[in-house]
Amino acid sequence: MTTIRTRIAPSPTGFLHLGTARTALYSWAYARHHGGQFVLRIEDTDVARSTQDSVEQILASMKWLGLDADEGPIYQMQRLERYQEVIDGMIEAGTAYRCYCTPEELDAMKAAQEARGEKRRYDGTWRPEAGKTLPAIPADVKPVVRFKNPAAGDVSWDDLVKGPITINNKEIDDLIIQRTDGVPTYNFAVVVDDWDMRITHVFRGDEHVNNTPWQINIFNALNAPLPRFGHLPVILGDDGAKLSKRRGAVSVTAYEDDGYLPEAMLNYLSRLGWSHGDDELFTREQLVSWFDGTHLNKSPAQWDPAKLEWVNGQYIKQADDARLAALVAVQLAKRGITADAAKLTPMCALFKDRCATTVVLADWLAMYFAPVTPSAEDLAAQVTDATKPAIATLADKLAGLAEWNKAAIQGAIKETIGAHGLKMPQLAIPVRVLVCGRAQTPSVDAVLELFDKEIVISRLRAV
Ligand code: GLU
Repeated sequence: MTTIRTRIAPSPTGFLHLGTARTALYSWAYARHHGGQFVLRIEDTDVARSTQDSVEQILASMKWLGLDADEGPIYQMQRLERYQEVIDGMIEAGTAYRCYCTPEELDAMKAAQEARGEKRRYDGTWRPEAGKTLPAIPADVKPVVRFKNPAAGDVSWDDLVKGPITINNKEIDDLIIQRTDGVPTYNFAVVVDDWDMRITHVFRGDEHVNNTPWQINIFNALNAPLPRFGHLPVILGDDGAKLSKRRGAVSVTAYEDDGYLPEAMLNYLSRLGWSHGDDELFTREQLVSWFDGTHLNKSPAQWDPAKLEWVNGQYIKQADDARLAALVAVQLAKRGITADAAKLTPMCALFKDRCATTVVLADWLAMYFAPVTPSAEDLAAQVTDATKPAIATLADKLAGLAEWNKAAIQGAIKETIGAHGLKMPQLAIPVRVLVCGRAQTPSVDAVLELFDKEIVISRLRAV
């Protein structure tokens, strides 16, 4: 049996987009489902736009999502010799040819076609045909190499997502496969790579569906086995327009920065264009066991930030407290707040149920490590002549506690309200405002217990 081999082939011209991350996820899950292999290839032949920084960001995003590759990263620019070898072989075999048209000639060709209302295409000037005499080779023009696309017949494939697709060869022209500088173009390099890397299933974005007929023809010209292709629909923003760099945070790392957990992202991304019944929350292992390449949506998915947040909140609730503490420490450090992860651990346990991201957790837990600024309205409403004496009593009682724990704190609060004839909220709310900087928190004794005693007392005495 053939081993299933999939790949993700990002171009390092920016960060890892959500769309590419989803394609990577499906490719990875499909390979894992079948006990196959997943290859990471960096398509860096656009030398002017490819950057090392982008490569690193892509690798970091893949790592964060846990999409481990069995091979790679393999860089196309390190394979130029191999492409040259294949091109030489194709020229020899007559399936590719050198074209000496200058850019000016191509422009003139295009203008004439447009003037005639025709589709823009290469006119075949240098295409060798039986009995045809080619122009004399100009001395000073560096040629490109073109693929000699079959002139007639259909190209068909059964797309894993879209179903059967057929294109007539008359629709497509002789594509440039090697530029004048010797660098191959995408459609050619991708075929040589998918062939050499024994890729059996190609998942990629919809935007490549028009490239596939050329690629299939090149595979055939090379007598290379064809992979199956699956073209995934675009991801739309919540406004219905295509997600793009300019529309919202579309890099994977931005979500890491914004306090999302990788397993939540993985879960959410996988549901964006694929389903397993009504399951919304599932583990990575379940995804792998279910993802067999079926139930992929044909229509575009819509990015739903509120749903992603909900999914993340579910994962935060279940996450290990020490792990959350480490993530919150990073978020706090970005605000200039140094927090000890060991101290943060019980705090995460107390607050995680109400927080959808680690950023929101950090918003809460900052009060334990940095001064708080209660709002003027809260102070005016809560810290009044009626409550101030009780606040002072409580500060004294807390200062006198031999042990600093929830039960002792609760005892002090109860004694204080008893002594001052107040109801619990009449003391608890002003205490929250002064110590936490906000009027609502989880149970006040549980919240106070996690503070350094001295901080609580000084904040209560600051009125
Ligand atoms: N480098 C291409 C891209 O990033 C890869 C397309 C493919 O998977 O064939 O869109």
